Amino acid sequence: MGTAIDLFLLAALGAFAAAWWRERRAGAAAARSYADEFSRQRARREAELAEQVRRTAALFDRMVEGVVVLDTAGAVLHANRSAGELFGFSPPATGRALLEVVRHHEVAAVVARLAREPEVLDHEIRFEGSGAARFLQVNALALRDGQGRNDGALLVFHDVSRLRQLEAIRQEFVANVSHELRTPLSLIKGAVETLLDGGKEDPVTLGRFLDIIDRHTERLTLLINDLLLLSTLESGRIRLSLEPVPLRAAAQEVMDDFHERARARGVSLVNDIPVAVVGKADPDRLRQVLANLIDNAIKYGRADGAMAVSARALEPGWIEVAVADDGAGIPPEAQPRIFERFYRVDKARSRDQGGTGLGLAIVKHVVQAHGGDVRIASAPGEGTTFYFTLPNAGA
Ligand code: ADP
Repeated sequence: MGTAIDLFLLAALGAFAAAWWRERRAGAAAARSYADEFSRQRARREAELAEQVRRTAALFDRMVEGVVVLDTAGAVLHANRSAGELFGFSPPATGRALLEVVRHHEVAAVVARLAREPEVLDHEIRFEGSGAARFLQVNALALRDGQGRNDGALLVFHDVSRLRQLEAIRQEFVANVSHELRTPLSLIKGAVETLLDGGKEDPVTLGRFLDIIDRHTERLTLLINDLLLLSTLESGRIRLSLEPVPLRAAAQEVMDDFHERARARGVSLVNDIPVAVVGKADPDRLRQVLANLIDNAIKYGRADGAMAVSARALEPGWIEVAVADDGAGIPPEAQPRIFERFYRVDKARSRDQGGTGLGLAIVKHVVQAHGGDVRIASAPGEGTTFYFTLPNAGA
């Protein structure tokens, strides 16, 4: 009996042990798979976080604005690539003093203001470098931790030099236009006053002053037409009606229009363009280009000299047209500026000849609207040749 009980107990114990053992193995396996899953998830999160940090760092570096983050002691914590380019240092510059990297006391003064003000907005700094002056707009923000304690500062720098440059050009343009309009207007006004003061009674005076009024009214009309054309060209609103234009005939028409003017200066006009050269152009605009260049060649060329127009096929698809004179030439220092609005080498001479100072600016815009380019070859005393390129309708 005792043996049977013993056997039973033994069997029960065995079954219990086996069950316990199975349970334990299952528990261990579950624990193992839980640990595996946990480490897989952790690795995934770490990879995601690393990717996020990488993306944020790339974004930070690619920002157009220069960004500098300062720590509580005012040293650099982070600086992006744009900041490095603006101030000429190599980021990250971590741990370096702000002044050491930006080398501009006004930036340090902006940071000092953050002790009293939460932010400094749109503060503009002017840099006098080796080239043209540069302008930086600074926005600074004092950083605070959860308890409102100083946690450093964030500085964002925006390069507004181009904007300031454009503003200066616009202001100069407005001043130039006003000046150009005022000169003929005051001459017209003076002539009218003289006539009203009794001048009209004398037929000679009357004729002389009416002539002044006529010339300067004409000048104002030319100026306003050129200004309107230039503004259309510059706004990009110009619509070109491109068609094949035989260049020899186009140049001849313009030369015929200038025949009288050329004769008055004793300038002979030579058309050297081969008949076969055909450009792809807007005929009216091309006529303006040729008219401005031929007019200049007659005005600034040598009296009793010669002006010649020629053309040749360039690389496939392009034609180069040349307008050459044998005048005094353009000094090398003036050549880079010659296509600017109102730029003249000799102001008095240009105005005397009725020039608006806008002709070459118009030439450049029209040629560029056709996809071409303009260049000059000139030396003092050796005449001037203006070259411009046009699409070739024949190729
Ligand atoms: P403008 O109405 O004064 O002629 P442009 O824009 O046509 O204006 O020309 C600008 C300036 O370039 C002229 O005032 C002149 O000083 C110079 N220039 C233009 N063409 C010639 C040329 N063929 N030879 C010498 N100087 C020239």
